[in-house]
Amino acid sequence: MFNDIDIILINTSHPGNIGAAARAMKTMGFKQLVLVAPRYFPHAEAEALAASAVDVLQQARVISSLDEALMGITTVIGTSARQRDLAAPLLTARECGSWLMQNRVGRTAILFGEERTGLTNEALDRCHAYVTINTADEYSSLNLAQAVQIIVYELQLGLSMPKIENNSAEALLADDSAMEGYFQQLEGVMVTTEFLDPKFPKRLMSRLRRLYHRARPEVQELNILRGILTAVEKKIGDE
Ligand code: SAH
Repeated sequence: MFNDIDIILINTSHPGNIGAAARAMKTMGFKQLVLVAPRYFPHAEAEALAASAVDVLQQARVISSLDEALMGITTVIGTSARQRDLAAPLLTARECGSWLMQNRVGRTAILFGEERTGLTNEALDRCHAYVTINTADEYSSLNLAQAVQIIVYELQLGLSMPKIENNSAEALLADDSAMEGYFQQLEGVMVTTEFLDPKFPKRLMSRLRRLYHRARPEVQELNILRGILTAVEKKIGDE
């Protein structure tokens, strides 16, 4: 039903959580499960907790890196128990569906972190928006599969209206891999020109990532930006 939304579990420790997440997904009409470097998979506990959602487990894509998981993805949402100092939109689970209705372009990924440590900064840096499930102040960290259940439930409610086809540029937006290629080149140029001191990078790259993620450049626009950087690189190389 929601075939253009990937649920991505990163570095999951407990195979039971993978199975329970698959079950949570299937009950709400989601089937695209992606496992990035799970500690144990396949595993009997995953199958046991998946119950009648073993098909979702069997079809899950198991891959080793986040880069690979996000290939071809243009909209990325991160889930986090803690509110971090993030300027990208911070949504409640309830708001997530309507945010996606308005901002979803191309394939979407929802990222879930490791049970104890949550999402890494590397993963958080890739997101266009963040979702936090409201909790008691005293204890905000849900079990991973239960967090998946709440998010897919809310998405299924919020997205049950037909997708708004408002964007003819849909196929033209730069995907995650193209953005990462750009960020690498940008960082390289900033280091070479000594705008960025790699010993004291502070939050510069994260801030720039946020800016570009907000702008959501099209492939052609990104090509222009890369062209500018290449011209700078060439000029420096010539000197
Ligand atoms: N200390 C970690 C908690 C990890 S719980 C953190 O700050 O995020 C494992 C995963 O479950 C999280 O990475 C997130 O994907 C999801 N999760 C748990 N509680 C959540 C909450 N209140 N809101 C959103 N996602 C949550």
